[in-house]
Amino acid sequence: MTETPLPQGAEVLVTDVRKAFRTGGDQQLRAVDGVSLRIGPGRLVALTGPSGSGKSTLLHLLGAIERPDSGSIEVAGTDITALGRRALADYRRGIGIVFQRFHLLPALTALDNVIAPVLPVRTAFDKRARARELLAAVGLAGREDALPSKLSGGQQQRVAIARALVNSPSLLLADEPTGNLDSRTGAEVFELLTELRATYGTTMVVATHDPGLAEACEEQVRLHDGRLQAAE
Ligand code: ADP
Ligand code: MG
Repeated sequence: MTETPLPQGAEVLVTDVRKAFRTGGDQQLRAVDGVSLRIGPGRLVALTGPSGSGKSTLLHLLGAIERPDSGSIEVAGTDITALGRRALADYRRGIGIVFQRFHLLPALTALDNVIAPVLPVRTAFDKRARARELLAAVGLAGREDALPSKLSGGQQQRVAIARALVNSPSLLLADEPTGNLDSRTGAEVFELLTELRATYGTTMVVATHDPGLAEACEEQVRLHDGRLQAAE
């Protein structure tokens, strides 16, 4: 098991959040249009809805990659929309993000890719030991020294998931993490997220337009045209 204390999964409180993008001329596109929701600590929530419904934008808001036009987003009791630059950078470092395209660094081994986010910072844990533990947790023990080009898509996504967990985040955001995988591998990656959630207690929000995968989650939040359709 990990040497670092397990973080309690974060509670996420989204209150009337809006984000519009300027399109041609003075047209505004309301990508997220008044969304309120609560995600309990340690929950695994699927964010579903058709393409263009606002899933990625909502994840970007949760990850403080974008700022909302209005509304508040509390993560573990802190309103991240009110944070200054430094605190925001700390916040972003403290969460994990997984993308559809794995975004591994091609010249680095699997192990070094997992370590990369914490390489420049001092950690209370042994980085290599932690990376080994996570690679084992995602089913890649023995592949530590493999370059991404030698790994299958599913394996590369597993490395990306291990990397997202290296800093013991209390919140993991995943944007269509199975979008580049065949359906069987996608289902395996989803199952992996479920297992990791049970092991590490991480709150997880996973965007997917695959209803079958969404059903494997405890909760589904459905977006349509930037609005919540039905939340459990
Ligand atoms: P999803 O992830 O559900 O496919 P997105 O959040 O990516 O949806 O997009 C929601 C809407 O916002 C879409 O109509 C999209 O074109 C628009 N959008 C997203 N990001 C931008 C941006 N940076 N600039 C302009 N429009 C954007
Ligand atoms: Mg998207």
